[in-house]
Amino acid sequence: MAKRIIRVYRFNTGSCGGCDLEIMAAISDNADIAWAATPQEADVAVITGPLTPGAKAALVALMRDSGDRAPILAVGRCAIDGHPFGRGGVASTAGLVVHSSLDGCPPAPLQIIEAIRRAAGVHEEQRDKRMTP
Ligand code: SF4
Repeated sequence: MAKRIIRVYRFNTGSCGGCDLEIMAAISDNADIAWAATPQEADVAVITGPLTPGAKAALVALMRDSGDRAPILAVGRCAIDGHPFGRGGVASTAGLVVHSSLDGCPPAPLQIIEAIRRAAGVHEEQRDKRMTP
C-alpha cells in the first residue's frame, strides 16, 4: 500500500523567518510530508509570525474561502501571542479557528514534524465525521 503523504500549506504572517527555515528543514527531511500550493489542497495549514494587521485579514479571508478545510497549526511563539512584539498572534485574532499550536523560538524540526502529524490526524478525524451519514 502506498504511503500517505501529508500536504502542508504555510502562511508567513510577518515572521522573522526563523520558524519558516525550521519548517522547511523539517519537511525536506521527511518523505511523508510535502508542500501544498493552496489551503484547499492541504491536510494542515501552518501559520508562522505575529499576524500583522494586513496578514491577519488576508489569512482569515484565505481560510474562509478555502472552507476552513485544513486544520490550522500555529508554529512558534510569535504565532501564538505575538512575541516579541507584545501583541498579536492567534490569541488576538477573531474569526480564525486554530486547532493546535507549537511553542518555541523557533521550535526544532523534530517537534514541528510531530505537530504536523498530530494535526493531520485531526484532519482525518474531521473528514471521517463529514463522510459519516
Ligand atoms: S517565534 Fe522566534 S523564530 Fe519564530 S518567527 Fe517569532 S521571533 Fe522568529
